[in-house]
Amino acid sequence: MISCQGATSITTFVFFLCDKIEPALCKAVFERTAKDIAEDMKSKFPDFKSNRANLEVCILRYLAEEENFEYFKQYLTSPKEFFWSYIEGRVKNHCLDESRMLRMFLDSSLESLYGNILSAVYFSSQIVKDRKDREYKISLWLDEFCRELAEVINLPRSELKGIEQQEVTDIEFLSSAMAKSLTDLRDKLKAELADADLSSFARKPHTILAEHFSGCWEQCPFCGSVCANLIQNHDGDHQSDFHRPRALMGTRWRETDHLVIDICSSLVSSNCKFNVGDQQWICYKKYRNAGPPYSTWNIVPDSSTQVYWKWFVSHFRAELEDLYNKKFQGKGEISEAWQRITKQEALSDLDTCLATSMGRKNHSGSAV
Ligand SMILES: [Zn+2]
Ligand SMILES: [Zn+2]
Repeated sequence: MISCQGATSITTFVFFLCDKIEPALCKAVFERTAKDIAEDMKSKFPDFKSNRANLEVCILRYLAEEENFEYFKQYLTSPKEFFWSYIEGRVKNHCLDESRMLRMFLDSSLESLYGNILSAVYFSSQIVKDRKDREYKISLWLDEFCRELAEVINLPRSELKGIEQQEVTDIEFLSSAMAKSLTDLRDKLKAELADADLSSFARKPHTILAEHFSGCWEQCPFCGSVCANLIQNHDGDHQSDFHRPRALMGTRWRETDHLVIDICSSLVSSNCKFNVGDQQWICYKKYRNAGPPYSTWNIVPDSSTQVYWKWFVSHFRAELEDLYNKKFQGKGEISEAWQRITKQEALSDLDTCLATSMGRKNHSGSAV
């Protein structure tokens, strides 16, 4: 039989310990859930299964399907922000639709962490119960318990000094009292988590996912395409796989209001000039002479404009003309061939371009 004083000691001990476990468990549930959601989305969504170039193609596909010029404008002017909000939107759709995936993820993290803590209780009790040195039993129990949970929740042993002096000798009783109290705690948290949404996360699932697709976000000073390097603050020049018609940035031909539909990678092998600052004209062939940001880019001559941008320029001709108050005329005339391109052709070409660029990178041995 356990003495009355012994039972009180155990109650005090269990109350104190579960009080410390609660915030640590709650934090761990959100952390684990955020990672689980990010992993789940990487394994299920074609957008997130591969690298940033693949994600960009998915975004361009989405933009074409939406056909909303405002979205295009946001994407062209602030690509990083657009990527982030796109990822956030996908996460919200996945987690907060009627299937209530978020609830399922939270419950499953809670259940698994609760199981880990329960195992730690049994494990510590097994180790300590037959020890003869009754004075240190509870201190040893706490040592084992914290060690077992070191990878699971943040429960520093040093914060539990206050209860290690409790006189607890009946470890079996302690173990069952802890199990009962942990089950109550699990049920309480489960009820609280039912109201959680994405704002409840300190580190949000979309942040974890977006970090996976980070890299250099510098934009080509001529056309706005994003540097393809996957390392932030990388050495060497910025470089983009596909440049775009300069009209996307509103550039016009000298002394006209005619938009430039040529791409910068084609212009760099021409005799044309571009304007920097006050009336200073520089030959595209020597674009690096314009200083930064131009001089920090390696623009490899390539005259092939992606079918996607030909379609975009033709399809949103009026919107682009309005936005920049300039015209697709003269040297900026959009050809019949461009106008005949269908959205489907534009999208198929995106896939071909992606496959080619990935193949090229795989072949040269660099990261993709
Ligand atoms: Zn460019
Ligand atoms: Zn770069």
